[in-house]
Amino acid sequence: MNVRQSLHPLIATLTALLITAVSAHEPLPLRIEHRTAIRDLPAPAAATQALELRVINLDQWPEAEIHAALRSTAQILGQCGIRVTRADLLQVTAPETHRHFDTPRSRELARELALPKPAVFFTAGTRQIPAFDAEAIGRGNSRTRPELADTVWIAKGARDLGIVVAHELAHVLMDSGEHKSDTGNLMAESTTPQNTQLTAVQCERINSTGRRNGLLRGVD
Ligand SMILES: [Zn+2]
Repeated sequence: MNVRQSLHPLIATLTALLITAVSAHEPLPLRIEHRTAIRDLPAPAAATQALELRVINLDQWPEAEIHAALRSTAQILGQCGIRVTRADLLQVTAPETHRHFDTPRSRELARELALPKPAVFFTAGTRQIPAFDAEAIGRGNSRTRPELADTVWIAKGARDLGIVVAHELAHVLMDSGEHKSDTGNLMAESTTPQNTQLTAVQCERINSTGRRNGLLRGVD
């Protein structure tokens, strides 16, 4: 007997719709509009580590604003002997539903884009509660959302962008959510133009953990 014939027509229709929805798993309609390789970021005099970034513009952020932020990020990370050798800036058109940071949808987006990490997403905002201006997902806090490991999500309206990106990348590279209350430290809880310093101990952790997790590469 055909099971569907035994069901009430409405239930049969709903069941059919549900089956369609569940089985569809269609790829997200994402379009990479263009890709720019940024290679002229400030470098420390003696670099010991190289970092490559993927930067995804999900909401028409002005390219000049992202570029300026990355310059400041590179300068800050340079304190630890890190040179940002290359940042690939991708302009991506995603469905409206996927332009904000929102764990289930951002997982879909990250899975579909399948970019090398670390990756920094410039989003339309956040749908997370509590709503942070920026979030970093390392290894330790990605067990239930592996697609988001080693990613940073910046919400529109975040201030001191370059410092925010450096702060969040430091969380990712150290694989730690720890903050440091020392005056002027990059890892102070609140991001301000004065908070840009990293201690030797923090640099050591950034470099060793970043290397171990394959996010940094040693340079001669
Ligand atoms: Zn933080």
